[in-house]
Amino acid sequence: MPIIRSCPSCGKSNRIPAKHLADTGKCGACKAPLPAMAEPIEVGAEEFDEVIRESKVPVLVDFWAEWCGPCRMAAPHVAQVARELAGQAVVLKVDTERSPEVAARFDVRGIPNFAVFAHGKLHFQQAGLVDASTMKSWLLRAVA
Ligand SMILES: [Zn+2]
Repeated sequence: MPIIRSCPSCGKSNRIPAKHLADTGKCGACKAPLPAMAEPIEVGAEEFDEVIRESKVPVLVDFWAEWCGPCRMAAPHVAQVARELAGQAVVLKVDTERSPEVAARFDVRGIPNFAVFAHGKLHFQQAGLVDASTMKSWLLRAVA
């Protein structure tokens, strides 16, 4: 399952290969530039595996659920990280109700739960609400 993004100029859907999420691309229809992904991407198990395996930049994963209050408080921070580290990191959101198998694989019990992957491997994981600067420091450490 490639990630689908709509073009900011013409609105056409573009399939973005997981390994190019942090790159600037070109719309297949109108050739306008498609900037690096700057918002969190909601993924299921299949896309999750693809992005973790193929991403050239570190990946922050936010394990969350609709009913979880602290997850809602974390959401703007997660979005801020995606915006501020566009091109340097990819941010995924995994709904633990819709994709319990992914959450189980990483032993997610309490949410929000954050995991940082680099080069296809789990680098760091922590449960509990944190702010954007903390998440950014995890990602920057994963690159170092
Ligand atoms: Zn376009």
